[in-house]
Amino acid sequence: MSEAEIIDGKAFAAPLRERVTAAVAALKADHNLTPGLTVVLVGEDPASQVYVRNKGKQTEETGMVSDTIRLDAATPTQDLLDLIDTLNDDDAVHGILVQLPLPDQIDEAKVIAAIDPDKDVDGFHVVNVGRLWTGAVAPVPCTPYGCLKMLKETLGDLKGKRALVLGRSNIVGKPMAALLLGEHCTVTIAHSRTEDLGERCREADILIAAVGVPQMVPGDWIKPGATVIDVGINRIEAPEKGTNDDGSVKTRLVGDVNFEEAKRVAAHITPVLGGVGPVTIANLLRNTVIAACRQNGLDAPEI
Ligand code: NAP
Repeated sequence: MSEAEIIDGKAFAAPLRERVTAAVAALKADHNLTPGLTVVLVGEDPASQVYVRNKGKQTEETGMVSDTIRLDAATPTQDLLDLIDTLNDDDAVHGILVQLPLPDQIDEAKVIAAIDPDKDVDGFHVVNVGRLWTGAVAPVPCTPYGCLKMLKETLGDLKGKRALVLGRSNIVGKPMAALLLGEHCTVTIAHSRTEDLGERCREADILIAAVGVPQMVPGDWIKPGATVIDVGINRIEAPEKGTNDDGSVKTRLVGDVNFEEAKRVAAHITPVLGGVGPVTIANLLRNTVIAACRQNGLDAPEI
């Protein structure tokens, strides 16, 4: 059997970023409007620092105004709420993103609820969750929207397909299920209490893995010919790569799916690097442009 076709997230993200750049230029030229995205990072989480740096760099590259506000790891909830109030009132800020996870002392739900839903470019505010599930216009969470776009590009019409979403988080699993339902898939959401998980996965034409457990989906959980989107990003020790100067074992990134096994069974699969990640950031840029248009009473461009 031939190997699965790799779904190239980088190749998918590049034209999307180009469309965003063109839309930003048109907004500046036609309406003297420059979309602005402010990212708030609390603490020093190394992975979050990388994500925030990439978001800032790519925002600037499109011609938008990018601002990153870094707060001390010990910041109390109220200070963050006060900052969000200020950003909500700032007409030059069209998108607000608070990088998750937040340190333990911060009430994450309160923080997300404080963001103006129209500036909530992550699509995590309950108002936007409700809009998504009821089919209203809303900023859609960037990772699941990217997964959906890649699926449609790869498979065309998704109507009637059996989709299994492995993971039920508010940021990936649940919005992913809502989007697939919107495309008329028959959707199963699986999680840590799902019985006969392998059996359920094997029924799926489309398998989305978003669990955060390294390589937990083996090849024999995948229906032959299925399309697999691996959202997971997990760092594991890689003794075969040797040790670092401090004696610690070198590491590598793996997904939630055993890629080597899965690619022999699936028809299409995303790689861990260059898969879902680049499309996620491109969608954040897209959401910011659309938010800027809506806040200024302009029709949002097709991006
Ligand atoms: P999360 O909030 O930790 O949720 C994980 C979900 O997986 C939960 O619903 C959990 O079930 C389920 N789960 C955990 N262990 C399981 C098991 N053994 N069997 C079945 N289900 C299990 O994670 P998340 O924020 O959704 O992120 C998931 C992964 O995606 C992580 O690796 C994250 O780094 C990655 N991610 C990548 C991107 C990207 O841009 N590529 C963006 C976001 C996240 P319960 O609800 O029952 O506990």
